[in-house]
Formats: sequence, structure tokens, C-alpha cells
Amino acid sequence: MSKALHSFLEENLKELRDQGLYNEIEPVEGPNGPIIKIKGKNLINLSANNYLGLATNAQLKEVAKQTIDVYGVGAGAVRTINGTLDLHVKLEEKLAEFKGTEAAISYQSGFNCNMAAISAVMDKNDAILSDALNHASIIDGCRLSKAKIIAFNHSDMTDLRNKAQAAVESGLYKKIMVITDGVFSMDGDIAKLPEIVEIAKEFDLITYVDDAHGSGVTGKGMGTVKHFGLQNDIDFQMGTLSKAIGVVGGYVAGKQNMIDWLKVRSRPFLFSTALPPADVAAITAALQMLIDSTELHDQLWENGDYLKAGLKKLGFNIGNSETPITPCIIGEEKLTQQFSRRLLEEGVYAKSIVFPTVQKGTGRVRNMPSAAHTQAMLDDALVIYEKVGKELGIIN
Ligand code: PMP
Repeated sequence: MSKALHSFLEENLKELRDQGLYNEIEPVEGPNGPIIKIKGKNLINLSANNYLGLATNAQLKEVAKQTIDVYGVGAGAVRTINGTLDLHVKLEEKLAEFKGTEAAISYQSGFNCNMAAISAVMDKNDAILSDALNHASIIDGCRLSKAKIIAFNHSDMTDLRNKAQAAVESGLYKKIMVITDGVFSMDGDIAKLPEIVEIAKEFDLITYVDDAHGSGVTGKGMGTVKHFGLQNDIDFQMGTLSKAIGVVGGYVAGKQNMIDWLKVRSRPFLFSTALPPADVAAITAALQMLIDSTELHDQLWENGDYLKAGLKKLGFNIGNSETPITPCIIGEEKLTQQFSRRLLEEGVYAKSIVFPTVQKGTGRVRNMPSAAHTQAMLDDALVIYEKVGKELGIIN
């Protein structure tokens, strides 16, 4: 190893470890369901994005197994050579149906979807108005585009309007985009899409919504754009196939000409091997399940409401969540980490989230209940929350 690399790695790793910021990963020994096993111990899992429990759904597993028997395990090439299987075409038709758009394009992950789509349409002559709490993949996609990034305060529509006006009046930019998460994963709040659309119309902004945490969850499962009935007003409906849909991948749904452009200009579509066939078939089947029935969605919300009510009754500060994502805001970083650690020892896996992921002094333990949790599991979790909360003086 080069001496320069060695000292770079050693110095930086030491600094992280000294500051307690090196994230030691503990593997889950088995499926990532409502109960997970770590180091041989069963834990109530409140930290997965598997909102509808589809990651371990029996019907989807069967679809994946049968698809492997027919198609094998890999797509064999990038989409534009001969990696586009008939399964990918069916998936994209299903995505367009699911989102109520003319067309859709899929990618290998939600993260590379944002990198791909933003940088395919925006360039150095453009500007992007980006919510201050947008996901890392949006930030990286914006950076990759080389457009001017103008952050607006989180969900602050006055700030957005002022910055949109200033950007237009500067005359510096050919195109201007406004980009936001649909559901913010740290607090569970929903973007103010009707106001964003109004501002976008006034200033001719391109609209881009990353609904990673909304698809399958809001809008009766169809997402946050549908929740507000804005399917005709949002240009880019982006989402992941790895959270509520339970598999892996990302997508953009929108107008045919936009999808046509992404197919010739977004680099992961052109230069990275297509999603594997079994995943594609399982995703398509999962989307059909959501189109056919709201049962899983309804169960998710029932569980979310149940957990929220229980935590609130115990006296926890659960913030302003409008979705099943339920933070327990503790405040001080060390106490937040201690709280999460004690929950783990008692049998609840709920990760702590602290600065720099959230603002200093707003450390939290974030709970992500799913449709697959039973009420008994949530009751067990609440008993542990009460015990640890009292022990650490967080609740009375
Ligand atoms: N956008 C948002 C808002 C996300 O939370 C995530 C996942 N953490 C992504 C994009 C990336 O999605 P994926 O995990 O499917 O790559």
C-alpha cells in the first residue's frame, strides 16, 4: 500500500473511532423481518424500510424463485446493449400504471437513480432549488450535474419562493429545478407539494419529487404525488423499489419524452448492468399487489398509529410525523445513543440518529413500524420503551 494512502486511512479511521463516530456494522443473521436476529438474539425490528413487509413476502419469494429457473440470476448486459429483458419492459409499464404517468424508467438503485436522472437533465447553465433536508443521493445528483445548487430552508415556502424569484430575475440560468423528498425520513413529515407546484408554475420550474419513503405508504400506497392529486403537475416522480416495495432498485415516472431522454442520457442506464431478472419479476408482482389491494398499506398505518399513540401516552416527544415513521426525539447526542443501546439490550432494535444526520441537540431514536408487525410485538416494544425511558429519566 502507498505510504500516503496508509497514513490517510490510519489517521482518519483513528479520528472517527476516537470520536465514537465509526459505525460498527452488526450483521442480521437471517431475514430482515419484523423480528431480526443479531449475535444470536431476537430483537423487535423498528429500523428497516421494509414498510409493507414485502422483503420477506412468501408470494414474492415464489415469483423470484420461478423467474430464476427460467431466466437465470443475471441480466447479462447493460440496458442499451442486450440487458433489457422483456421483464424490464413489463416492470416499466407497471411502474407507469402505478404512478399514473405516460412512462417510467428503472435503475439498479434509488441512489444511482437520483445521480442518473438529475445529472441527465441539469447542467452548468442551470440552477437547482433543493430542500435543506434532502437525501444524500439528491445532493450528490445535484453536485454531479454541475448546476448551481441553491438550498432552501426545510419546507419553508417563503424561502423557496424568494429564492426561485431571485434565481429567475438573475437571468443566469437556462433551466431551474425544484427538488424535494416526498416524505422526509428523519421526521416523517410530508413535503408541501401543492405550494411547491404553485411556485413552480409561477416561475416555470422543473419539479422533482423523491418519494423513496412515500411510495407504498402515502396516497393509499401510490405515493405522495397521488396523495395530493398532483400526477399531472410533477415532472419527475422518483422512487425506490427497496423500501415499501421490498426488493431493490429505483425509478423515475413521468412524460414519455422525459423517459426517452433518460434512456439515452442517464449514465447508469447506459453503463451499468441491468437489474437481475428475479428482482424485476418480484418488483412487478409487488406493484401489482399494491395496485390490487390497500390491505398492507392499511395495516402499516394501523400499526404506525398504534405505536405513535403508545409512545405519546408514555410521554415521549414524537415530533411532527405525518406518516408511520415515528421519531422519539431525545435531544442530547450521548443520551440518545445510550437510549438506543439500552433498547437493544432489552430487545428492541431502533437506531439512534444524531448530528450530523440531524441538527445538534435533536438526537432521536427513529421507529419504522411495518405492516408485518403484530400488535403483540408493538406492545412488547412499548413495555421496553417505558422501562428504558424511565431508567434514563427521559419520561416520568
Ligand atoms: N432517496 C431517499 C429519500 C432515501 O431515503 C434513499 C434510501 N436511503 C434513497 C433515495 C436511496 O434509495 P436506495 O436505498 O434504493 O438506493
